[in-house]
Amino acid sequence: MIETAIDVPLPVHDELSAPYWAALEEGRHVFARCSVCRNAWLPPRRECPRCLEPAWTWETASGAARLISWVVYHIAFHPAFKGRLPYTVAIVELAEGPRLISNLVDVDDPERLQIDQPLRLTIERERDVAVPRYRPETC
Ligand SMILES: [Zn+2]
Repeated sequence: MIETAIDVPLPVHDELSAPYWAALEEGRHVFARCSVCRNAWLPPRRECPRCLEPAWTWETASGAARLISWVVYHIAFHPAFKGRLPYTVAIVELAEGPRLISNLVDVDDPERLQIDQPLRLTIERERDVAVPRYRPETC
């Protein structure tokens, strides 16, 4: 049987998220910061999730983050990820506050991951798209 390569699904780019993806192409990970209450968040949305004001700007993240939670996939729920098993999906909190779901990379032993573990941003390419991923910070 000949197995056909299946592409990994890519994130959706829309008018609101286009600057986010463009910044990653330039090597920057950005998040939204409310101009009124200073709340910071991801993913981008039109209003601040705290005060509902539609006034906000993009800020560049430092790249420092911590591990909130994670799961190690041993089964591919999409055929394109079959060749990556096992892989780690995590909830990551940026030093600036926003949280996102990402992948952890360069994890030698997933059994040694710890809540609050320091992480560092690494921007990788998924087909033609720059995506934010995180690796455990080495002290
Ligand atoms: Zn606000």
